[in-house]
Amino acid sequence: MNNQGNEELVVREHVVQTVCGSVPASELGFTLPHEHIMVDFGGAVTAGKHRYDADNVIEIMLPYLQAAAAQGVHTFFECTPNFLGRDPEIFRTLSERSGLNIVTNTGLYNNQYLPEYAKTQNAERLAEAWIAEFMDGIEGSGIKPGFIKTAVNPQPTALDLKLIHAAALAHKETGLTIATHTCTADAAQAIVRILNQYQVDPSRWIFVHAHVEEDFSRVLALAQTGIWIELDGLAWGGDEDHVHKLMALLEHGYEDQILLSQDAGWYHIGEEAGGAVIPYTRLQAEFLPLLAARGVDSAMIDKITRLNPANAFGLR
Ligand SMILES: [Zn+2]
Repeated sequence: MNNQGNEELVVREHVVQTVCGSVPASELGFTLPHEHIMVDFGGAVTAGKHRYDADNVIEIMLPYLQAAAAQGVHTFFECTPNFLGRDPEIFRTLSERSGLNIVTNTGLYNNQYLPEYAKTQNAERLAEAWIAEFMDGIEGSGIKPGFIKTAVNPQPTALDLKLIHAAALAHKETGLTIATHTCTADAAQAIVRILNQYQVDPSRWIFVHAHVEEDFSRVLALAQTGIWIELDGLAWGGDEDHVHKLMALLEHGYEDQILLSQDAGWYHIGEEAGGAVIPYTRLQAEFLPLLAARGVDSAMIDKITRLNPANAFGLR
């Protein structure tokens, strides 16, 4: 599907499901593919709406989203899984007020953020619930997820991998892209093996936090499979490290597989007024100029920040 010489204009997929309905993938514009609005580290046993005041979350977080919108950010992927602070209704209000497209997810995280049923139900049953969220909306809100979020980290456990089987099944039914919190090549390899069993196209899986793997040559080797490589830790600094890894991906010809984000934000549930929030503006204000200084031209930056997210998440 790559039209030679006309590649910038090619968006292979069609729509992305946002919290306000579906939008054409070609209209995502400048996109942050991995951010968070709020996070609850209390664990699945206590998680829920009773843990926070929705009006306060909206009041605190709206200016951060407006600041991103003022920079030209158009679409924002909210990567907080269920039981960790996923609240589609808050996201819809924030989308309406900020003008940003916001995309939420289905799926489950790992460890103490998993509900008991994740341990007892099989992959097919778990996938059914995620497919139902895609078909009918999340928890009666009518708001549908735009991707599947999972976590396998640092080493794959049987429980984590069962959730990858569930994600593969849900993907086959919905077409939703799977993004997995994975900081190691070992875990990424285990995931790719499972996705292969289901004949999931590797371009429907995102290696989240790929920059964290210490041996980046292993990430480059995994990129050969066609997966997405997400460098997404800019909220925490490490700009030069991100530049170095992004340049390595470009040198190896993986420009069509790079996603770039910050992992910023985080109204911390349980802390006064959400605690310390990290703005969403660093990528544009500080990081892109570093890339430009290294000779990355604006067409390449547009590809990475606009076209790639549309291709990664667009529903075929
Ligand atoms: Zn994250």
